[in-house]
Formats: sequence, C-alpha cells, structure tokens
Amino acid sequence: MSVLQASVGVKGKNLEDDVQTVQSLLKSKGYDPGPVDGVCGPDTIAAIRTFQATFLARPDGLIEPGRKTWVRLSSSGGASTTPDLTQWSGDSAKWTQEKKLQSLHPELRPKVVAVLRALEQRGFQPKIYYGWRSVAVQLQLYFQGNSKVKFSFHNAQKPNGTPNSYAADIIDSRFGWSPGAEQSGFWKALGEEAKARNLTWGGDWVSFRDWAHVQLVPNSELARVKQESGL
Ligand SMILES: [Zn+2]
Repeated sequence: MSVLQASVGVKGKNLEDDVQTVQSLLKSKGYDPGPVDGVCGPDTIAAIRTFQATFLARPDGLIEPGRKTWVRLSSSGGASTTPDLTQWSGDSAKWTQEKKLQSLHPELRPKVVAVLRALEQRGFQPKIYYGWRSVAVQLQLYFQGNSKVKFSFHNAQKPNGTPNSYAADIIDSRFGWSPGAEQSGFWKALGEEAKARNLTWGGDWVSFRDWAHVQLVPNSELARVKQESGL
C-alpha cells in the first residue's frame, strides 16, 4: 500500500517522494503523467485531472491524503492486474459516463474530456453515448444499417480483452441525433472542438456523415488497430 505524506497537484505541497508515488500510480493505471521524476509539471497535472474526470464532475487537479482521489488512486486495479472482464459486459451505451471514459484508449480519454469541457463552456450539454462497444453490438449496428463496417474503432481492445476504444460518440443530451442537434449548432461545435485536438470527426465524411463520432487516428489505421486488438 502506498503512502502519501502531503498534497500533490494544483497548489499542492508536491514533496518529491509524493509526486513520484502519484506519477507511478497514474502510470500503472494507464495514464500519462510524463517521466516519473518527482516533479509535478503540466503533464502530471493533466494526468491527475484526466484520472479525476472518470469519477468527479469537476476535476481540481489536487490529490490530498485520505481524500477521494487518493483513495481511488491507491486502490488496486492497475493495468498489471488480471482484468475483470465481467465488468465490461452488458449494453455499453447504458454505462455511466465514468465507465465510458474508462473504456477509451488512454490517449483518447484526455482529449474527449477536453472536448466535453469546451462544449459545456459553449452552453451545450454533451454526453458520451458510446465509448467502447463489443463486436456483437457492432455487427448488430452493421446489419441494421447504422454502421458501414463490421469492425470499427469503437471495438478496439487490449490483447487481454479489455476495452481500448479509439472512438467516442458524443451527443447533446437534450437532442441526441434529432434535428435540434444541427439547429443548435451542436454538431458544428463538436467538429470544431474535436479537430482542434487533432481528432478525426465523422461529420466530415461525405459518404456517411457520422455527426457524433470522433476518433483518435485516421481511417487508414483501421486494419492496424484491428490487428493490435487481436481481432
Ligand atoms: Zn462512432
């Protein structure tokens, strides 16, 4: 069990040993705090906020001994432990926002958090509809005509079978896919915020406008991601 002497992060005491402990715990959970060097820089703060965004509505970037973020961070369940695949079963559209965020590739996760926050600041009510989804659900969407592919970036997984989605579908909870989403300017705003963070936006696809869809890498990498997923 790790020990934290004092606070780490935004306006924290940031003792070198504490920062190092936090950095290595963040790393073990799949976040990227930069080098484990005991220095609390922008990358470490960003990783703390991203981790907090999976369970806090307002991530403050600060970890204090005994408080919620520390309890979560120091509990087991790092990337190295045996995955509990049962927790990833069921209809992934109905998962909590926290769980949907956790189902994303670690590089996509902070970008989606930033897009959601930017859209909120513009007066929208953004929600992730789909993060990861199973291949079974993908095939259903394919046969219903709601998707053009049998394997999508939403289906990407780690070799151990846990979700590692390269894509997220983001809607405004007031509109979903109804005309209000376009009339309110939500799709346009989503495209702007996604592309500002180097994400690919499905609204740009002329053959099949996928308005809610953002993804980490271009379509040309689909075969590589499928192989990486062991599928
Ligand atoms: Zn999508």
